[in-house]
Amino acid sequence: MASMMQLIEELWFLKRDLVSDDYDRALERLAQEVPMTIHAVPSGTKVWSWTVPEKWTCHEAYIETLDGRRLLDYANHPLHVVSYSLPFDGEVTREELLAHLHVHPTNPDAIPYVFKYYQRDWGLCATQTLRDSLADARYRVVIRSEFTPGALKIGEVYIPGQRPENFVLAAHLDHPAMVNDDLSGVVVGLEVARRLLAAAAGGETPYYGVRLLIFPETQGSIAYLSQHEDEIPNMLGGLFLEMLGNDAPHALQQSFQPLSAPDRALVTALAGHEPAAHVGGFRTVIDNDERQFNAPGVRVPMLSLSRVVNPHLPTSRFAPYPEYHSSLDTPAIVSQARLEQSVELVLELIHAFQHNRYVVNHFKGEVFASGYGLWVDYKSDAAGHKRRFEIMDRCDGTRRVADIADELHISFQDVWQVIALLIEKGLVSLSDTPQPTDPHLR
Ligand SMILES: [Zn+2]
Repeated sequence: MASMMQLIEELWFLKRDLVSDDYDRALERLAQEVPMTIHAVPSGTKVWSWTVPEKWTCHEAYIETLDGRRLLDYANHPLHVVSYSLPFDGEVTREELLAHLHVHPTNPDAIPYVFKYYQRDWGLCATQTLRDSLADARYRVVIRSEFTPGALKIGEVYIPGQRPENFVLAAHLDHPAMVNDDLSGVVVGLEVARRLLAAAAGGETPYYGVRLLIFPETQGSIAYLSQHEDEIPNMLGGLFLEMLGNDAPHALQQSFQPLSAPDRALVTALAGHEPAAHVGGFRTVIDNDERQFNAPGVRVPMLSLSRVVNPHLPTSRFAPYPEYHSSLDTPAIVSQARLEQSVELVLELIHAFQHNRYVVNHFKGEVFASGYGLWVDYKSDAAGHKRRFEIMDRCDGTRRVADIADELHISFQDVWQVIALLIEKGLVSLSDTPQPTDPHLR
């Protein structure tokens, strides 16, 4: 089994364009690590209001001076050609070349990532430094790209639960020669799946199933959802994983339904695990495939976990970290330790989702705490004493674990610690549906 960093080293420089041979290679490599179903959706397939694009291959591309000096070569870096660029072969004026030569907006030494799936144009990408050096009147440009019928590929790993309902983890595998966006999310998701599969093999069947989806962004989620409409009602919640390797604290973006059960579970569990982490509203931290899951007609409450730098700034969605969408997004900016921390956090969030059910009391009246070994001495631990009773007061079949945490402004873990004890003593049990025990409500 390869480590997350080993997988990144192996796969990052592949030309993982939306529908491409290198994307398929990367997915097949990941499928060697865990049991994975690969879905193929042919080019041209209508997926809701979208159409699956053709496969794009670039065999060769370069800029040369008229006397044959090569200034830029696709063979050196996959970002030198606009993803899905039209082919081109000819002599152009300097002005015409500059109109098709994209540079990074702020860093003069970075090659930007530019994609044009539907605009149908040719284009190349270079550093500002190279662009500034172009002084000749005319250049020769060659882009030998090809559009052919192919298939968009989606990898699916499913860890069955006791229930048919499930939690969705998702990450996108496309983006040529980049790491943090979003190979980092892919390897974290894969490692989480690997650990859940190992736990299941050891007899720990989760309550809800967990589904990991790996796809090209936007079109991949639309393609999957449109072809699995019957499964959508069983998707109770989800978490999109991206940008998890760079050096910044975690940022959790809430779903379109911030009062949903998964939102409450994940937000209160994050508070217990990493109190300094940022929590922001839908479409305020970062934009990605969680949009498709939250969208009309789907409405899966999907949150998003990242390490967006300065997530409180309105610009974070378009500039999440300095190396974003450029040739500087390399293995050097991510670390195995940070990926490992993200795996731990995701497992903790899934644990909270799994246990966030209604707490039904089998007791009436205040529990005889010392008789059940539940007494916390108020003289030595006044806060602990108060909290235990505050939690027990709310075990009435109408509140989930995270609702209690939310109401008391404490973490999921703090509530769960008490609830687990009450379950062990036979005083409460968990239920998927509300079971009010207030006789006035019956
Ligand atoms: Zn991106």
